[in-house]
Amino acid sequence: AKKLGKNNYKLFTPEIEDKINNELKIENQLIESLKNDQFVLVFMPAYTAQEKVLTGYEVLLRCPNLANTSVGPDIFIPIAEKTDLILMIDLWVTENAFIKLKELINKTGFKGFFAINVSSKSLRNDDFYVRLKALIKEYDIDVTQIELEITETCLMPDDYQAIESLKQLKSLGVSIAIDDFGTGYTSFNQLVNYPLDTLKIDRSFVQSLGDTAAGKKPTLDIIYELAKIYELEVIIEGIETKSDFEHVQKLPGVTVQGFYFTKPFQWEEVISLN
Ligand code: C2E
Ligand code: CA
Ligand code: CA
Ligand code: CA
Repeated sequence: AKKLGKNNYKLFTPEIEDKINNELKIENQLIESLKNDQFVLVFMPAYTAQEKVLTGYEVLLRCPNLANTSVGPDIFIPIAEKTDLILMIDLWVTENAFIKLKELINKTGFKGFFAINVSSKSLRNDDFYVRLKALIKEYDIDVTQIELEITETCLMPDDYQAIESLKQLKSLGVSIAIDDFGTGYTSFNQLVNYPLDTLKIDRSFVQSLGDTAAGKKPTLDIIYELAKIYELEVIIEGIETKSDFEHVQKLPGVTVQGFYFTKPFQWEEVISLN
């Protein structure tokens, strides 16, 4: 506590107080958005690098109630993760992604995948598994069209509980991807313990392509080669330039995402493109 004079104690500095007030405001907006169904989904396409064929979409959350304050999911998701709000948000995203997927299949015969981000807290919550299972049934979802993305930083070494949770989700028939790979603690020899289908290499490895010393193999390529040894699909995100794209086109079989191709699509664009 900060001493302000005789018997006057303040628990927090003004900076911390601002931060708490701001987080509370964001939390309230998230609760409002859930209650009034005011969240929106946008869709980041994924393509095969070689033929540039669309393989599917990553579903990303937007909160229009916060948009004017330029608070994106990078800020509001970690705030939601501090409370149980994230579970309800992940379920909202999952259900609405299912609704959109059904619509897209009905309108266009879409056969690609939808990738849904699942937070670490939901992964560890049995309710998420139970609700997901019920939603798959309710919407009659072909599970082979669903991939769940779990951020690598939420997996600690020898985290048997997380492994069990992943196996449980995987038993539903969905695919499992590790997101932001290379930013967490997973060593390659641990990968065999996870029931994985896909490695999503973090975009920082694309950004550092240019820093590679002459004659040295970029870290991106090394991760790619190891992923192939483990027979994992590879998605490389954060392709922003032509030279990024030309580089990853030399890695057989990879799938790519990034602003070089497009910003995330609004739903109307997804419908008109397929
Ligand atoms: P992420 O899962 O790694 O998602 C990719 C983020 O990178 C997205 O930002 C996307 O718009 C952005 N991105 C895609 N291509 C590029 C590129 O070429 N360059 C750059 N600089 N960025 C690119 P977004 O939508 O702001 O999401 C940020 C993070 O928020 C996501 O990271 C994810 O961790 C979280 N998030 C987003 N939607 C959801 C959701 O529905 N549920 C959960 N639990 N988390 C979500
Ligand atoms: Ca993701
Ligand atoms: Ca990512
Ligand atoms: Ca991320």
